Amino acid sequence: MRTLLLSDIHANLPALEAVLSDARGEFDTAWVLGDTIGYGADPSACIKAVRDLDAIAIAGNHEKAAVGEMTTKDFNPVAREAIEWTGETMSEDELEYVRGLALTEIVDRFTLVHGSPRDPVWEYLETAPQALENLEHFETRACAIGHSHIPFTVGLTGQNIDQVDHVPGDRTQLVGDRLYLNPGSVGQPRDRDNRASYALVDLAEWDVEFRRVEYDIARAQARIHEEGLPEFLAERLEFGQ
Ligand code: ZN
Repeated sequence: MRTLLLSDIHANLPALEAVLSDARGEFDTAWVLGDTIGYGADPSACIKAVRDLDAIAIAGNHEKAAVGEMTTKDFNPVAREAIEWTGETMSEDELEYVRGLALTEIVDRFTLVHGSPRDPVWEYLETAPQALENLEHFETRACAIGHSHIPFTVGLTGQNIDQVDHVPGDRTQLVGDRLYLNPGSVGQPRDRDNRASYALVDLAEWDVEFRRVEYDIARAQARIHEEGLPEFLAERLEFGQ
């Protein structure tokens, strides 16, 4: 059985439901890499779905901001408006769950962080130099990250860096003595592909499969309108950026 890897759900319930239905029966554990809430209109339902999965989940910047453990002054105005609404709409029980999420978890041969090992909340790990610099900030063989909303793996062996281009639906061996894996974003993809992104990892076979799933974007947009959240948050879902 495999591990379901989700990140950046961003309160997009139609996207999360589509992913869970696509992956049904193919995984027995789930890891959720932060930003389950923020931007989208269904934070409570998305938190419930993640809790129902019994997932090992960590906090992202949107969780930290929603419970007031981080200032929203560095958020852009649209993100700030959404995160303030998110904090107000969640129940005390949900806020308590979010407060209890750690910034880092270690499971099997993976370290789970939202942004990067050296700065779990803010750093977007996107370049080879960053991948190298971050190696000394985690001890496991692999590191699963989110935050950039771009799916990728990068493997490092000595000074050798392999950035692997994954075709959705293909199972590929995990490459490198150390490696990073980003499953992309379930609820707000930013690589100009508007389908929900996620990954399945086989820890025994040491392979990964990236997947993209179409979902009811119009429904997610309608929910954003219903809750009076900024229009831009609805628009961007259509373009996957
Ligand atoms: Zn995010």
